[in-house]
Order: sequence, then C-alpha cells, then structure tokens
Amino acid sequence: MSGGEFDFIERFFKPLAGEGALGLSNDAALYDVPSGRQLILSTDTLVEAVHFLPDDPAETISRKLLRVSLSDCAAMGAVPKAYLLNISRPASFDDLWFASFSTGLALDQARYGVHLLGGDTTSTRGPLVLGLTILGEVAHGRSVSRAGAVAGDDLWVTGTIGDAALGLQALLGELPDPDQFLTGRYRLPQPRVGFPLEDFASSGMDVSDGLIQDAGHLAHESGVALEIDAETVPLSAQARAAGAAWFETCLTGGDDYELLFTASPSQAGLIEEAGKASGIPVTRIGRVTPGRGVRLLDSAYREVKLSRQGWQHF
Ligand SMILES: [Mg+2]
Repeated sequence: MSGGEFDFIERFFKPLAGEGALGLSNDAALYDVPSGRQLILSTDTLVEAVHFLPDDPAETISRKLLRVSLSDCAAMGAVPKAYLLNISRPASFDDLWFASFSTGLALDQARYGVHLLGGDTTSTRGPLVLGLTILGEVAHGRSVSRAGAVAGDDLWVTGTIGDAALGLQALLGELPDPDQFLTGRYRLPQPRVGFPLEDFASSGMDVSDGLIQDAGHLAHESGVALEIDAETVPLSAQARAAGAAWFETCLTGGDDYELLFTASPSQAGLIEEAGKASGIPVTRIGRVTPGRGVRLLDSAYREVKLSRQGWQHF
C-alpha cells in the first residue's frame, strides 16, 4: 500500500469501519456468525458510464452502491450486517468527490445498521469501478430463494415499478420530472430491508433488471409459469402521469429494487399486515401456473406482447 493510498483510506474509510474491521489495518477482517444463523453474501459492481452517470452526485452513487446490495439481502430474507468495498480510482475523481462518497455511506450505515469491514483500493487509467460485497445473516434454513414457487401461488411485488427507468429517461432529457421524484428513484433506490419475506414467501428475488425479465428468472428457477395482470402492476402517480407510451419502459426498465415474490393464497392476510407494519406497500400482480415463462395479460385475459424484455448486461 502506497502512502497516498494509506492516507486515502485513513481519511475517507476508516471512519466507516466497525466491529471486526480491526481498524482496516490488518490483512483481513473478522466476522462472527452467531450459532443458528447463516451468513449470506452478495457482491455488486458499478462502473462509471455503465451503471451511473459521471456527473451523478458522489453521495448518491455510494448510497446506491450500498443499497443495491441491501436489496439483495432483503430478497433473501436476510438482515444486512457489514460490507467490503473495492475501488478502482481514476485520477479524475478527486478527494472532494470521495469525501462526498464517504458521507453518503456514513448516512446509510446509520440508517440501515451496517458497517465497513474492509476492502481494497487501486488506481486505474480506466473508468471508476466500485465493487461492494455485503454480508448478511438469516436464521439457519430460513433464507428465501428463487426456486420455491408452485402453481396456485399468488405473485406479489412491493412498492411501485418503473420509476427509476423513467428517472433515467428524465436525466437523459426524454421525459419531464417536475418534482424530481423519478430522478430520485433512479439515483437512490429504497431497498425493502425489514419486509419479512422469510415469513411467507415460497420464492422471491429483487427486481433489478426489469419486472418482466426478472419474473422470467423466478419462473425459470422455480420451473413454473408466471402470469402478470398488466393493470395491477403498481405505478406511482408520476409514472402514470408520464402516459401509456411509457408503460413498457416501466415493465422492462431496470433499477426498481423492489421485491418480487410468490406466496400461497393463504398467506395474503399476513402479507398485507406485513406491508402495513413495515410501511412498505405491497400489491398482488398475478399468479403462478404450470408451464414455463412469463405472460403479461390485459384485463380481458389476452396476452400483451412487449418489444423488449429488460436490461441486458452484455
Ligand atoms: Mg438481486
């Protein structure tokens, strides 16, 4: 580690370190998993100009980086605890930028009860690359997977769908966003930490690559078909105001970070109670049937065809 790197870590990351990080001054961190609990791990990478816009505020980039992983914890029915952070830093991102980046992390550490455990930094001639690995805990054998949906289950989603995809279009000048709500949803996801999926979900995941595409992943992993009633997909007032021409973008755009899950119809009351108790809206949007794939249906039960399925990684 060079002197510059040492100073960089000391200034911006040591204040974020918590239990087990050993002050970020050892070769590795320690993590105690309480007996009867399982560790869940998930890692994500954000690349400048691919996953965020170079002039997005540093504070929201760091919070989005963390929140994307918090959402994965929520999707597994796990409680987020700590994280590792890897940064490949081009010279064009100065200390002022990283001060703001660190401030964003501090805010969300306090909000979600997580802390920095360790990581690595390196300089690069390429774009800024940010990698975050989250550690979470779940009671042994209680984690939620994508594989448990059975025909007859209901299909549910939290929050509203499509706001972030429209927010990106607003930032690109394609759509008005008078109250900045859509832009805010793009820059700062609201991970559904605290929504107790593990209490009732037969399968679940978070929606990051577009509702239709992610529903396809759930259907595939569970070996079932999913039917989505288009009219029931929850949209914000702002997304509705954008008009019907944007509906397909809502269903296929990415960055929702809502929870998509299935549950037996007998759990409906419990799910609605959980929504009220957590303050997280939850909506039944369809059902699980025998077969394969995802069908989007109109109110007359006719299939709606979409021209694109969702965000492509490659
Ligand atoms: Mg995910």
